[in-house]
Amino acid sequence: MRLIARLLPTISAAVMSTTSNKRSLPTTMSAATTFIEKINTEYEQLHRSFEMQFWGTKMALGGEEYSVPELTRTKAEMEAFLASKEKLDEARAYLASAEIDADERKTLKMFERTFGCYIMESADALKLREECMATEGTLEDKRNKMSLGATIGGSFVELSSVGLRSKMRVDADEATRKACFDGLRTIGDFVTTNGFVELVKARNAMAKSLGYVDYYDYKVTQAEGFGKAALFEILDTLEQGTRPLMVAARERLAKEKGAEALEPWNSGYMMAGTITQKLDPYFPFEKAIEQWGRSFAALGISYEGASMSLDLLDRKGKYSNGFCHWPQPAWLRADGSWQPTVTHFTSLADPSAVGSGHTALTTLMHEAGHAAHFANIRQRSPLFSQERAPTSVAYAELQSMFLDALVGDAAWRCRYGLSREGEALPFALHEEDVRAKHPYEVLTLRGMIAVPYFEKALYEMAEEDLSAASVKALADKIEMEIQGGLGGRPLLSVPHLLSDEASCYYHGYVLAEMAVHQSRAFFMARDGFIVDNPKVGPTMTEAYWRPGNSEPFLDLVEQLTGKPLSGDAWVAMLQQDVEELLAEEKVAYEGAVQAKAKAAASGSKLSASKIDLDMRIKIVDGDAVIADTEAEGGDFLATCAKFEQFVQQRFPRGAA
Ligand SMILES: [Zn+2]
Repeated sequence: MRLIARLLPTISAAVMSTTSNKRSLPTTMSAATTFIEKINTEYEQLHRSFEMQFWGTKMALGGEEYSVPELTRTKAEMEAFLASKEKLDEARAYLASAEIDADERKTLKMFERTFGCYIMESADALKLREECMATEGTLEDKRNKMSLGATIGGSFVELSSVGLRSKMRVDADEATRKACFDGLRTIGDFVTTNGFVELVKARNAMAKSLGYVDYYDYKVTQAEGFGKAALFEILDTLEQGTRPLMVAARERLAKEKGAEALEPWNSGYMMAGTITQKLDPYFPFEKAIEQWGRSFAALGISYEGASMSLDLLDRKGKYSNGFCHWPQPAWLRADGSWQPTVTHFTSLADPSAVGSGHTALTTLMHEAGHAAHFANIRQRSPLFSQERAPTSVAYAELQSMFLDALVGDAAWRCRYGLSREGEALPFALHEEDVRAKHPYEVLTLRGMIAVPYFEKALYEMAEEDLSAASVKALADKIEMEIQGGLGGRPLLSVPHLLSDEASCYYHGYVLAEMAVHQSRAFFMARDGFIVDNPKVGPTMTEAYWRPGNSEPFLDLVEQLTGKPLSGDAWVAMLQQDVEELLAEEKVAYEGAVQAKAKAAASGSKLSASKIDLDMRIKIVDGDAVIADTEAEGGDFLATCAKFEQFVQQRFPRGAA
């Protein structure tokens, strides 16, 4: 996640001026109303300044206004605002007064919760927190400078953890793969002797001084609004439900590919076949934006007047991590006028690489899913629709993961998985993909849940037992227990463990994935289909998106699906026999073939040639604008055509 940037469209300038007219009548406003309005507009401005700096510096834009000192300054200003004890006290005072209405109460409660996430109301804890930050800073700095790589053919090759993992997945030489694995394991040796053990102790001391069971309990309560015990009650359903499947998948892997396939450096390589190559022609990179727009429009998704800038291509000087952010959060202003979002989204696509089209499309569906969610939050403060705490990671990821999952559906592939010649991805190829992946999908799940189970056990260790050796032994033990053997991605190489922001939060992805399957099961039971179902967008909007962070994630899932969140739907999907799954997928695929034929016969050209997402889209490459719906009279498809042309010119096909 991580959301970014803004263009200041004329509409918000107009909105601003009406708001200031209203504000010239202070006698009609209560003190609480004035306070709320002041917090809202101040926060909005600080948030925008920081996020614009974030975008400008990360994208290496030319404007003089973007600089690292300005980025640091605006960040500090925003954080100081959020950590203001005075504002918290004032919000509480208004909450205690009788003169506020229900809307104001809701907003003030949100202020209280938000400020509470950034203020530490205990001097002891504050001191311990500073200690944690110092230890973490030194550790991260050392880790960034750590010499990492693999000894291949007798000489040391420097490789990042990402580089090591991808080499391990594709290199045909087992000795090289083993060397990469050994390289990944050195991260654990390094961090446990360079401050991680001390960090775990300091984090626990801080959390305990605030009255929490331990650091994990503190983190999950802050982020999700429920404690560690409740979290693991949910995760246990998944762990127990999928344990037999994990055992069976490992047995199958050994039977199919030989016992050596179970070695952590071999599993990934041996499971990956030639499928990426075969799927590639059906996901042309230059068509990704169009197919995303078409399928979201068919789901009935609207962006409520938002603007989105997309900077998709890799280029020199650009930040090396894809992200999405919102310099302008959506909210209802005091005068009732609507402020749409402004989204910036970046990826590092290389259209000439095999598989880049599929990656670009999946990323686009994911990030545009985040954008659809944040564009539709409709509350009376930008603090309901900003992406930081107390916005739950699980809540945000549910939306984007639900939408990117569609790319794997047979019906979606029939409608939108089209080659440059317009041929739909054949069912036989989809079948090959399902047969290769389905029996092993449980191993991905086990790799995911190993992280929270490890962090739980780590922060539960008695202080006197914590040492480099015991932490490493614990990581191996959890891998054996949860994954059935040592993992191809050693737990201690997971970067989330180190930083305060990302530690003890991996469960967010797990909860989101559980909710994706539970929501999919709900739509299948209610409507019988998801792809191109025009009721999906409106249902998601009303049930999940409108409330923003005003309601707990677990409540939202239960309200929509009618059941408390559990691993059942995900487990059921994994348990499904591959033949049965393929039979269902075949029916869905045939249905899509017929729907396509029907649309063609009825000449519904109009709907096919006009895509309306109620959004301005600007496709950029750094400072250069490639295409802009505004320059195309609002025509989405004409904008896509321009992008297509640009890609074709810059990356002529056939030129290897
Ligand atoms: Zn995401």
